[in-house]
Amino acid sequence: TNEELYCIGCGAKIQSDDKNEPGYTPKAALQKGLETGELYCQRCFRLRHYNEVADVSLTDDDFLRLLNQLGQADALIVNVVDIFDFNGSLIPGLHRFVGDNPVLLVGNKEDLLPHSLKRSKIKDWMRQEANKQGLRPVEVALTSAKRGKDLEELLALIDEYRAGRDVYVVGVTNVGKSTLINKIIDNSTGVKDVITTSRFPGTTLDKIEIPLGDGHFLIDTPGIIHRHQMAHYLSPKELRLATPQKEIKPKVYQLNEGQTLFFGALARFDYISGGKQGVVVYVDNNLMIHRTKTEKASAFYEKHAGELLQPPTKAEMKDFPKLVRFEFKTTEKSDLVFAGLGWVTVKANSVVAGWAPEGVAVILRRAMI
Ligand code: GDP
Repeated sequence: TNEELYCIGCGAKIQSDDKNEPGYTPKAALQKGLETGELYCQRCFRLRHYNEVADVSLTDDDFLRLLNQLGQADALIVNVVDIFDFNGSLIPGLHRFVGDNPVLLVGNKEDLLPHSLKRSKIKDWMRQEANKQGLRPVEVALTSAKRGKDLEELLALIDEYRAGRDVYVVGVTNVGKSTLINKIIDNSTGVKDVITTSRFPGTTLDKIEIPLGDGHFLIDTPGIIHRHQMAHYLSPKELRLATPQKEIKPKVYQLNEGQTLFFGALARFDYISGGKQGVVVYVDNNLMIHRTKTEKASAFYEKHAGELLQPPTKAEMKDFPKLVRFEFKTTEKSDLVFAGLGWVTVKANSVVAGWAPEGVAVILRRAMI
C-alpha cells in the first residue's frame, strides 16, 4: 500500500528501509501489525515485549550525558554487576558521576558461586574491590535475577535506601540487568501498567520507568558496552558454552612449572614458576580442560583448536580471534581472571600467564576466595 503508516507507540512514520532510522519495521512485522491492528516500529515493539533498551558504548556522548544526569538527579543509584565478571562489570568513573547520591552495589548471578563460599565474605570482597575503584557503595547485596532469589530482600533494601526518591538502575551489558528488571516488573502487580517508556532528555537513549507508587520511579538505563567482555567476541552459541550456567564446582589441578591448561580453545593458563602447587579452576563445569606442556602448547593449539580443543568448533575457529598472552607475578593469593569465562586461583609468588581471545581482558586480582 502507499498509505502512510505511523507507529502507535512513538508516532514515527513506519519504514522498512533503514534499520537505524526512526520507524523501522521489518516487512514481516509490518504485515502482522496491520493484521492485528497494533502497528509498532521495531524499537517500540522491543521495548514493549522484551523490555529492551538500546545499549551504549562507554565512549558514546549519550553515555556521558546519561551519567551527568545521574549526578543531577536526587536518587538512589543501583549498580548491577556480574559477580562472575566483577572487574569487567564495574563502570569506570561511575563514582565521579553519581554526585552525592548513594550507590547500592548489587552482585548478580549468585547462583553460579559454590554454595560453600560465605556470602558475607564475598560481599566484603566486593566492597573492597569497589573501594579500590573509588566507588563507595552504601550497601552491597547479592542476588540471582534468574532464580528470582532474595528478590524481596533486595526490593526492601532498595526501598530503605531510596528514602522516597527515584531509583536509577545502571550496569554494563550482560550482567543480567534486564533479567532483574523483568523480575521486578513481574513482582509488581498489573504488568501492563507498570512499564512506561521515555527518553533521557538530550539523548537518543530510552529508559523504562516502573512506578514505585509514591510518584517516584525505578528507572532502567541503557546497558553500557564494555568492549573487553567475552560476550562481544563470541557468537551466542559459543557464549552459552563458555559462560557458566550452573553452580560452579571448583576443580583443583596439581601443576608443575612449565605446565599449561587449555579451556577448550577459548583460553589458556600457563604455570611458569612458583614450585609445584594446586591451582583452583573456576569455569563452567562442562568446559573441557586439557593439560599439556607449555613448551608444546602453541603448536598443540595450532593443531587441535576446534577439534580436540572445543569450543569453538572448527568452523567457528575461522572467525575466532587469536589468543593474546598476559604475564603476571603474584604477591598474594590471587585470581587470574579471564573476563566472563572464569578464573584460576594461584598462591603468592607465582609467575603465570593467561591467554584470551584478542580484545578480552585478562587481569590479576586479590583472590575472591
Ligand atoms: P543485560 O545485558 O545486563 O540486560 O543482561 P541479560 O538480562 O540479558 O542477561 C545476560 C545473560 O546473563 C543472559 O544469558 C542471562 O540468562 C544471564 N543471567 C541473568 N541473570 C542471571 C543470574 O542470576 N544467574 C545466571 N547464572 N545467569 C543470569
